[in-house]
This record gives sequence, C-alpha cells and structure tokens, in this order.
Amino acid sequence: MSLGALTASYIVASILFILSLGGLSHQETSRRGNLYGIAGMALAIVATVASDQVDGMVAIIIAMLIGGSFGAVLAARVEMTAMPQLVAMMHSFVGLAAVLVGFANYIDPGIEHAGVEKTIHDIEVYLGVLIGAVTFTGSVVAFGKLQGVIGSKPLLLPARHWLNLAGGLACIWLGVLFVDAEATSSGLIPLAIMTVIAFAFGAHMVYAIGGADMPVVISMLNSYSGWAAAAAGFMLSNDLLIVTGALVGSSGAILSYIMCRAMNRRFLAVIMGGFGSTGASASAAQTAGEVHATSAEDVAELLSGSQNVVIVPGYGMAVAHAQHPVSEITQTLRAKDVKVRFAIHPVAGRMPGHMNVLLAEAKVPYDIVLEMDEINEDFPHTDAVLVIGANDIVNPSALEDPNSPIAGMPVLEVWRAKTVVVLKRSMATGYAGVDNPLFYKDNTLMLFGDAKQSVDGVSKLLR
Ligand code: NDP
Repeated sequence: MSLGALTASYIVASILFILSLGGLSHQETSRRGNLYGIAGMALAIVATVASDQVDGMVAIIIAMLIGGSFGAVLAARVEMTAMPQLVAMMHSFVGLAAVLVGFANYIDPGIEHAGVEKTIHDIEVYLGVLIGAVTFTGSVVAFGKLQGVIGSKPLLLPARHWLNLAGGLACIWLGVLFVDAEATSSGLIPLAIMTVIAFAFGAHMVYAIGGADMPVVISMLNSYSGWAAAAAGFMLSNDLLIVTGALVGSSGAILSYIMCRAMNRRFLAVIMGGFGSTGASASAAQTAGEVHATSAEDVAELLSGSQNVVIVPGYGMAVAHAQHPVSEITQTLRAKDVKVRFAIHPVAGRMPGHMNVLLAEAKVPYDIVLEMDEINEDFPHTDAVLVIGANDIVNPSALEDPNSPIAGMPVLEVWRAKTVVVLKRSMATGYAGVDNPLFYKDNTLMLFGDAKQSVDGVSKLLR
C-alpha cells in the first residue's frame, strides 16, 4: 500500500474513532458508536498490515488468527458480571505490549538515531516502557480484586508514600542513566531495573486502593493503557497509534475525573490509596436492629397500590440475570398506569454504565432510566422503591456516619421514600464490605432470595 493510501486510511480510521466516542456517550447512539469503532479498528489493522513498513506477513496473520480467536471466544463466553475483569485483562495486555515493543525497539539493530533524535527516541522508549509496566501489573492486581482472588481491602504498607517517592526518584535517576548511555548494552541495565520498579509500583498502587474506589482505578488504568499505546506510537512513528492512544488516554482520564466527582473523592487521594481501610467499629454499631422480612405477595400488593415506583438496580441484578423479569414487571406496572422509573448510581455494578447496558439489553425504555442527580430529589414523593441487588449505592451511612469507610460518597437516598423493598439473598455486605443501616429502617422490607426468582414471583402475581 502506498504512503498516500496509508495516510488516508489512518485519517479515516481516526475520524471513525472520534465518531465512535461521540456515539458511545449516549445510550441511543451507543450501538452506532460501537460499529464506528469496529470499522475504524478493522481499517487501521488492514492498512497497517498492508503497508510497506510491515513484512513477515505469514507470522502476523498466524498471530492475528490465534489472538483473534482467543479474544472472540473469551468475549463470547464472558458473563456481563465478569466484563470488568475482561476489561482489566485487556488493559494488562496493552501494558505488556508497550513494554515488549519498547524493549524490541531499543535493541533493534536496524533503528539508529544520533544526537537530539537519539535523546528523543530514548525518552519515548523509556516512558513507553514505564507507563506500560505500571499498567500491566496494576491491571493484573485490579483483575484479581474484581475476580475476588485478592481481597478488596487496601494494602497499607508502612511508609508506603515514601516507598512510592523513592521508586519515582529512582526511575528519574535511571532515566538519566538510560538516556546518557552510548551503547545499547549499557542502556539495557537501567531500562530493565526501571521496568522492575514500575512493575512493583503498578501492583502496589492498586493493592493500596480500597474496594469502593475500584471504579476509579478501572478507568484510570484504561487511561494509562491509552498513554502506553500513544508512547508506543511515538516509538514506532505510527501516527494512528498516537492519535488512538491519546483518545483512549484522555477519555479514560476524563471518566476517572467524572467518577471521582460522582463519588465525592479527590483524584489524588484515590491514587494515594487507603480509602476503605477503616469501618470495623462503624459496622458493628450498625448491625443492631430488627429486620422486616416480606413476601412476594406483599410486594405485589404494595406495587399495585402505588402510583409512583422507582427501581434501583445493583450488582446483584447482574449476578441473578434479573434484568428481563425486571423489564417485564416494569411493563406490567406501566400498563396499570403506575409511574415507573429507574435510578442509576454512577458506580452501580462493577463497571461504568453496567446497569444501563443490562437495562438496554432487556429493552427498558431509555427515557425512564435516570441518573442519580436527576432522581435523588424525588424519593420523598415516591410510594415504593425496589432495590434489586444493590447495597453500597443505597447505604445511608455514607451520608450519616463520618466514620464509615464510604463516608462522603453520594448515594441514592431511597430511605426517604414511603416504603423500600430490598431484594437480596442475605444480610451480606456489598463490594465495599460495609454494613447497611438501610436494612434496619422502619420503612424497609427485605425480600430475601435470588433477585431473578423474587422478581419473577412478584411479576406472576401482578399479571
Ligand atoms: P454491591 O456490591 O454493593 O451489592 C450487591 C448486592 O447484591 C450484595 O449485597 C449481594 O447481597 C446482592 N446479590 C448478589 N447476588 C445476588 C443475587 N443473585 N440475587 C440478589 N441479590 C444478590 O453492589 P452495588 O451495585 O450496590 O454497588 C457497587 C459497588 O461496586 C460499589 O461499592 C462500587 O464502588 C463497586 N465497584 C463499582 C465499579 C463500577 O465501575 N461500577 C467497579 C468496581 C467496583 P447478597 O449476597 O445478600 O445477595
């Protein structure tokens, strides 16, 4: 493929990526956004593989077939509840690829630079490997935390901030040695030592972040993986990789900022870690009280007699695959002239937009799905709230108990409604491991059981 055709393909692919991001920002256009993204990526791959810079076509096609089949099988099999882990794993691959590309690029005897060009190229390699290594181990630990292999409690090493500072200073010093090195063999040593430090830093950073701050970590790693790709683009002089990496990097950074704002957290405080480390005493105080268990019959009666119902879905709805019966119950109630709306917390479930995706899949109309800020004021005028498999996002201790590990996080204030029905299997805590005083309030009824079975039961009685 000629250079002109390659450049034109890259420009078209970049435009498709920008259109894709635009489409993904609204539920109505997100499907189209995805299609733009797929088309852009397909064009980018074909153009790159067909370009004159690339040889060894057979090896590339074999690698793409193996990688593509692996990815397709994983994506087809993954449960919606395990999507965040899949995303974390993908980020780790991007990070590892940036590390490998950096090393390969540095030791490639065919690449020779001198003077300022060499310095710039060395800095590109160094930064690419650094960001890639942090992204790789950070994403692996995030995967472990989301999968439940690693506990969600933050690991608080003594003097951890000093350790991070020492690691940062060491990386700067090693960077100077690396750029100053004349021969590849002498530059490899500081590069390798920095890689080990960056691996340790990435793992430590995510280990130190507490359960309820994981949403920010996921979007932050998303951003890092973009910057790692952009750095690889500079190394390889590939404009499209630079543009794509910068798009992912900046959109991930904006998402992290939005999530921090939604959770009332300071971005730097989240990165420093430690949130969610206290709370044992607060939890003990909250467990006292009486719980009012209810039945599907009573809930059906309550809903039939209500004019205004709000449904709050959470992670448990995803686990139970309850979105379809929830959609059915919505239709039945709306047919009976009951006003039904959904309240979505920004960190409900295990990834940004988790609940929106599930509700869209179950064909719940977009216009009755509202964000937390749009609906929080309406709870005092609501007859019944159904909390389906949600816990942390409706925990009043976030607002009422300054000692709570989730203190300060805005939550859906469901307890201000006339009656709240919580559908879950037991009195177990949510992701942040914090007890929930909502369950003991006088206007709260607990419908124990798997969310799908409970909603199915109520739905049958309503028909
Ligand atoms: P939570 O994890 O707080 O609570 C989910 C509840 O669902 C549990 O208490 C569980 O109780 C219940 N549950 C589980 N399985 C079922 C089932 N089959 N049927 C009925 N209930 C079930 O979820 P929330 O959505 O309220 O809050 C999200 C949490 O996840 C927040 O702490 C957030 O910070 C964190 N997080 C969010 C991310 C995001 O980007 N959205 C990413 C990473 C973490 P029981 O076992 O008793 O049934």
